[in-house]
Amino acid sequence: MTELGPSTTAYQVDPDDLASLAPGEPAYRADQLREWLYKRPVLDSDQMTNLPGALRDSLHGRLWPFVVEIEQSADDGRTRKWLFRAPDGASIEAVLMGYEKRTTLCISSQAGCAMACTFCATGQFGFERHLDTGEIVAQVAYANASLRDRPIAGSPDRVTNVVFMGMGEPLANYSHLRESLHRMIDIIDMAARSVTVSTVGVVPGIRKLADEPWQVGLAISLHAADDELRTSLIPLNKRYPLNELIAAAEYFFDKTGRRVSIEWTLMAGVNDTAEQAAGVAAISRRLKAHINVISLNPTPLTPHQRPSRLSVDDFMGQLARYGANATFRTTRGQDIDAACGQLRVRSAEQKGEQ
Ligand code: SAH
Repeated sequence: MTELGPSTTAYQVDPDDLASLAPGEPAYRADQLREWLYKRPVLDSDQMTNLPGALRDSLHGRLWPFVVEIEQSADDGRTRKWLFRAPDGASIEAVLMGYEKRTTLCISSQAGCAMACTFCATGQFGFERHLDTGEIVAQVAYANASLRDRPIAGSPDRVTNVVFMGMGEPLANYSHLRESLHRMIDIIDMAARSVTVSTVGVVPGIRKLADEPWQVGLAISLHAADDELRTSLIPLNKRYPLNELIAAAEYFFDKTGRRVSIEWTLMAGVNDTAEQAAGVAAISRRLKAHINVISLNPTPLTPHQRPSRLSVDDFMGQLARYGANATFRTTRGQDIDAACGQLRVRSAEQKGEQ
């Protein structure tokens, strides 16, 4: 049995060792805790009605591995965004989006990010630390507890889809990513197919993920179709150039039977050209991949700009002509800085940290 440190929170305890949270209690308390933590999460341990008062009290304040620093809602209540704060000061962002048939949660895998992509707010902040498994899974559990408390009208009242598109590079935090996928799929009971890992191109991580027993989705943040441009936007491309990335994506498809998706953030005059459209279309045909195109969300420190509506239409038209499957997606939560580390930037600006 693990000895609990004074700051260990419930989600940071191995789900097979939950009895350690209820010392001196009968063994079935572990099953009840598993149920409350993973299957029917509640915001507060006071709501764990079948547990004795003393146990509920002991969980008070050590249920979540973070506190809510900011909660915001947008899009008529269909988007909910949290900035969580861990006791050591690390910030963790998650965004919940309600649609007609799915409720999607975008989660973070690291506090900050070491990848330093030129267009990304998180990258501009630098790397703080990896999130541990509990901190990753607790984002999903917290969103489920929030939905239980206040559902989004007209959307499923559970998180049905998870995307690792918040802060951090999930494949650079592989062991915690892996364990969090295990808990989401095997304990929370989410469908593996409804969980998507998004990567900037950590090639060994893509291959490892392909060898796991789950059919999770893989999104590749491509953003450029030649090495020169891609390296200028995404420093990691120097280490894992396009041919290696494409080969790893093919391996993922072969092993899992799941088509990858290509993410393409359009930046004016950078990757919205005819040449780039032809290049990404060719890559997408080779991978049988769908291309998700979004417009850049300009961040305070980025030199890039979002393209005009006209050049978006033009780019989409070119993709169609080159035979690519592509969708232009509008982003949610613009008015609450929901994209990519921006809430954290705002919070830091208000505190004068910058
Ligand atoms: N590190 C992972 C996941 C986090 S980023 C990855 O790179 O995939 C999630 C997505 O948001 C990526 O496709 C990323 O390229 C994109 N993104 C980052 N900054 C953005 C911005 N300012 N505007 C639009 N999309 C952005």
